[in-house]
Amino acid sequence: MRAVVQNDKSRTRFRRLALGGGAAALAAATLLSACAGPESVRSASGHGGPAKPQDPAARRAAEHARLAAAARRWGLDQVPLTPPPPPAAKPRITARDGFEVDHQEDWNLPPVFTTVPTRDKVVFLTIDDGAEKDPRFLAMMRELKIPYTAFLSDYLVKDDYAYFRKMRSYGNTLNNHTLHHPYLPGLSYEEQKDEICGMQAVMKKQFGKAPTVFRPPYGNYNQDTLVAAKECGITYAPIWNEEVFVDHWEYREDDKRLRRGDIVLTHFRGRDDWDGTMVDDMRRFLNKVTREGYAVARLEDYL
Ligand SMILES: [Zn+2]
Repeated sequence: MRAVVQNDKSRTRFRRLALGGGAAALAAATLLSACAGPESVRSASGHGGPAKPQDPAARRAAEHARLAAAARRWGLDQVPLTPPPPPAAKPRITARDGFEVDHQEDWNLPPVFTTVPTRDKVVFLTIDDGAEKDPRFLAMMRELKIPYTAFLSDYLVKDDYAYFRKMRSYGNTLNNHTLHHPYLPGLSYEEQKDEICGMQAVMKKQFGKAPTVFRPPYGNYNQDTLVAAKECGITYAPIWNEEVFVDHWEYREDDKRLRRGDIVLTHFRGRDDWDGTMVDDMRRFLNKVTREGYAVARLEDYL
């Protein structure tokens, strides 16, 4: 069976560069101009009286003002864009070319993919492992209304399941990233199944539900991995097309560009691992995707 090796270099390449994120805060005028259209400005100014709270335009304007204040508070260059509503018809997702295994289709194995087929100008944020548990990260993403999907490995999260329960209570999805984060192609089928099904059981117990989405550690898998994952109740095995670090981005594609529907990876890491916090990492992520006109959408809305 064929082992597929993805992006191993990103695990070992922590360059310790100086951070530039702290200088990101801009003037209020810039922030407001990014989101307030003429209609909401008119409504907010009220023409002859305070806007009624039930007026949808006034509500939108108030929400824009709230988001702009949050963006300033967290030091973003611009207000993050609002994603379109979830697609009425889910896209058909298949394995990326070259990422399929033998019997991918006829055994109906979970597809490994890096980009969701969509015309929406969105990217998806996925965050792996679970080592760093930064309460400011939870607050930031909640205040900015940025959805994300966490792929958890039990050996890193078991000292604080409550942190991830809180994350889920804010509307984010928790998914399977194995019990111990092994290099799965080096394990037997039974060992792989123990790693994946074992994490399903932990998640059912700790979070009330076994997920249907799984990411193999390091993006490494073989046919046994996908057969085992399917046996454990998994239907999708997304990996990623870009990875964002606190001080740089890495790309799978040679042209180093974001695409519609791209899945972006980052990690629950803090100052123990790199020169910055989760908040710094998210600032780098959001500044780039917003600057390039992408909104952050919820991956599960497209599955
Ligand atoms: Zn991982």
